[in-house]
Amino acid sequence: MHNLSVAGLIKGLKNKDFSSVELTQHYLNRINKSKLNAFISVTDDLALAQANEADLKIAKGNNTFLTGIPYAHKDIFCTKGVKTSAGSKMLDSFISPYDATLSHKFNSENMVMLGKTNMDEFAMGSSNENSYYGPVKNPWNLKKIPGGSSGGSAAAVASRIAPFATGTDTGGSIRQPASLCGITGLKPTYGRISRYGMIAYASSLDQAGPMTRTAEDAAIVLNAMAGFDSKDSTSATKETPDYTNQLTNSLDGLKIGLPKEFFSSGLDEGVEKVVMDAIKEYESMGAKIQEVSLPNSMHAIPTYYIVAPCECSSNLSRFDGVRYGYRCKDPKDLDDLYLRSRSEGFGKEVKRRIMIGAYALSAGYYDAYYLKAQKVRQLISEDFKKAFQSVDVIMGPVSPTPAFDLGSVKDPVSMYLADIYTLSVNLAGLPGMSIPAGFSKELPVGLQLIGNHWSEELLLNTAHQFQLKTDWHTSSPIEL
Ligand code: GLN
Repeated sequence: MHNLSVAGLIKGLKNKDFSSVELTQHYLNRINKSKLNAFISVTDDLALAQANEADLKIAKGNNTFLTGIPYAHKDIFCTKGVKTSAGSKMLDSFISPYDATLSHKFNSENMVMLGKTNMDEFAMGSSNENSYYGPVKNPWNLKKIPGGSSGGSAAAVASRIAPFATGTDTGGSIRQPASLCGITGLKPTYGRISRYGMIAYASSLDQAGPMTRTAEDAAIVLNAMAGFDSKDSTSATKETPDYTNQLTNSLDGLKIGLPKEFFSSGLDEGVEKVVMDAIKEYESMGAKIQEVSLPNSMHAIPTYYIVAPCECSSNLSRFDGVRYGYRCKDPKDLDDLYLRSRSEGFGKEVKRRIMIGAYALSAGYYDAYYLKAQKVRQLISEDFKKAFQSVDVIMGPVSPTPAFDLGSVKDPVSMYLADIYTLSVNLAGLPGMSIPAGFSKELPVGLQLIGNHWSEELLLNTAHQFQLKTDWHTSSPIEL
């Protein structure tokens, strides 16, 4: 069963090849045997109860498309009555009193939550080594990082201990782990999926999305995730199409842009070869390739690492030891309570970012850092706007290297460099995808597809056509 895609599982449930309870139990058994540390919480009892309910709905014919399908939920989404930690000691004992809109949507379709996946603390990281619950391992090689921050979700889908998972992407956290674990990940246009109940990191950049094995599955799952939500003021009112409708369109005449800045020094040769081979595959399908330029994309790292910390320093101020989350023992007074709860509850990287953000937003430095970063952000967006006047889709690498060794990148700035190809997409609010495109040094490598605003259908179509011609997305890591 675990080798079936979501589309395959939907068929299997429909044909009564297995019940949702059987399916759920099968996945729970696999999770229990897994050594990847992909889950923070496994919600066995809840999952079996949900599966039971799903089976009843199916028997009565009251089901929707995804009823009874199990999934893994990134531990950043609030789930009523279930621990929601965001990978932090700060929220280690936090049981959410309400559901995120996304959790609510999945529950109302009677989908089955297997558990909550491991992640970098408050989604800050590129390797999943910043989790309070320890690092996640890459299923292709247990000594390697799975990518971050949705590393638990990516590892779970790649190792087939969950049919699909949710992720969030503030600067690459869906695409980068998808690339390094060999799965398909889609970060939709900013505002496409509600952020209500998704613990905030950097609100102007955060966006949820599906992490699946195939593009077809991503389309199916996006249908269940997308849509306007009055509880999120940045959620888009734009209507959602059926994302599975355009998958079979021909790519003949599709104009693909390759940003010359993405193929310069710093890009691993093996990764470059995989990307160029994938581009050739697209050419053979009738796509036309041309060079484009994103001159400001090389400023994405300094720009993002001002904007995101500024927003996080504001968002994370709510964790003060008073309202919810960790509280230090025996505080002397209120100042001591704040100081020790925050310094004991947050990890190193989170504290680093809060300090950078608070500094950059302070009266004397606001213009020099935050305002300037916002101006460069605008220039980055304009580069894309210009490029999309002549091409339909932009392609390039997701990550400059394949997965690196756990513990090997020690200084934070070197870690930030891993985000070079993903950040500008968030800064511009565009949709982006990673699809499995080959291997370098026996590790999976993803191809990045970037589309104009609201072009998810075209991206999914472009990805699906590639997956009809290649089988990278079907390769699976060692049986675990
Ligand atoms: N690696 C980036 C960061 O650490 C992006 C993380 C994300 O997308 N959540 O901020």
